[in-house]
Amino acid sequence: MDNITHSLTGILLARAGLDRFTPHAAWILFLAANAPDADVVSAFGGSLNYLHYHRHLTHSLVALPLLPLVCVLAVRLVSRQPVNWAGAYMIALIGVASHLVLDLTNVYGVRLLLPFSERALFNGAPDANRTRRFDAIAINIPLDAGLFEPTPVTVK
Ligand SMILES: [Zn+2]
Repeated sequence: MDNITHSLTGILLARAGLDRFTPHAAWILFLAANAPDADVVSAFGGSLNYLHYHRHLTHSLVALPLLPLVCVLAVRLVSRQPVNWAGAYMIALIGVASHLVLDLTNVYGVRLLLPFSERALFNGAPDANRTRRFDAIAINIPLDAGLFEPTPVTVK
């Protein structure tokens, strides 16, 4: 799934009520919803390295409890303001989980069981149009729900 969809999902989760659990919830969820794709740094090792390590351990259940902690620490250090640690960790966990669920919908699947199994899991049969449908749904639901209301323009 693309990172615009992951980012909007994180912001949507904050606007949907998770922002009441800690200050800076939108930033925490924004980071957490994108955190598994931090494996993009593997591209510095070349294309083959990227193909091998993209959607690797950062997209596994082993990393699920660790990535939220990194996100909360990053927001805490950058903002230099207190967070509610328990609430921040829980919403970050939801944000990272949202990433894994959305990535399960693409044709590549996710190897959730790494390092114990290399098997890629995906939600249903491979379908090239499925990713586009989910992107459309993930973007349109917040728009349809009125979470991002357009600012009225007045012409004088
Ligand atoms: Zn991903």
